[in-house]
Order: sequence, then C-alpha cells, then structure tokens
Amino acid sequence: MAIIPITVYGDKILRQKAKPINQVTDEIIVKIKNMLDTMHNAYGVGLAANQVGYSESMFVVDLNGVDGYKDFKPVVMINPEVLLESDEKVIYEEGCLSLPTLRADVERAEIIKIRFLDTDENVKEIEADDFFARVILHEYDHLNGKMIPDRVAASVKKKLQTELNKITNREVEIDYEITEK
Ligand code: ZN
Repeated sequence: MAIIPITVYGDKILRQKAKPINQVTDEIIVKIKNMLDTMHNAYGVGLAANQVGYSESMFVVDLNGVDGYKDFKPVVMINPEVLLESDEKVIYEEGCLSLPTLRADVERAEIIKIRFLDTDENVKEIEADDFFARVILHEYDHLNGKMIPDRVAASVKKKLQTELNKITNREVEIDYEITEK
C-alpha cells in the first residue's frame, strides 16, 4: 500500500495533457493500486493520474461511500474518451482533492457515453448518468489539464482567487498529504 502526496492547484503537472498508455504493464498496475489507495485515504470519489504526479491517461472512481451507490465497485479507466454528452445539463457543487477546501457549482452533462480500456486491456463502452457521469467528466478534465476554476464563469473564478492562492501556497489545513511547494 502506497499513499502518494496529492498535487494541488499551481503544480504544473495538473495543467499537462495526459499521455496515452500503450500497454498495461505491471508498473501501470502498481500505479493504479497507488491511486486507489491514495484516493481512499483522502476519502475522495475520484482521482486522476496527474493528481499523484503520473503522466499517464488514466483515472479511478469509487462511489461506494456515496448515497445511492452502495454496491459500487471501484472503476479504473485507461485512455478514456468521452464519446457523447447529453444536451441536458445539471449544476451541482463540486470539490477536488487538488483544490482542498474549495467548492464551486459546476455545470455538466447529465448523461455521457465513454470508451476506455480496463486493466485487462479490454475496450469498454459504458453509459453513465447523474453523479457517476459528473465524477467521470471531472476526472476526464484532469487528464486534459482542466480543473474546476476552468469550468466556472470568470466572475466566479475571480471570487475563488483568494482561496486558490491559499491552496497554491499550502495555507490550507487538510488531513491528507499534499506535495511540497
Ligand atoms: Zn479533481
């Protein structure tokens, strides 16, 4: 079990586009395990590779602790590709392990279709809705170097700026390990 310090707003890797994975090697499997351990340790519902400093295109999601998702099994998505987003949008408050203490309303598609590789390199295509779709889109954004502040109006981002600066300067109190500045 390895808990990796989580990158936070201001860390360059969070702005980089993830690299596709050609082969799911043992090294990738270890990285995925570390991501799951790190996410669970921080009570997160999703974690993208660049949130623990990995450059590969992959993320993990576990909604087991969320109301209505009692039997949810952790999902690993490798080289994900969102194929479809519904016209129906939902606005809901989001947080992010790389933006500790910050919350903001984000508009996302209600239903999505996504294609990815599982850890056995099988191509999977699933439809997701509601909170599951939201978490997938949030993690997918990470793999494209995008974060919550990029999904809100400029006026809202302006209001978040003080909080963002505090996060970048590590002036926040949280109970999981983050990277050093
Ligand atoms: Zn996030």
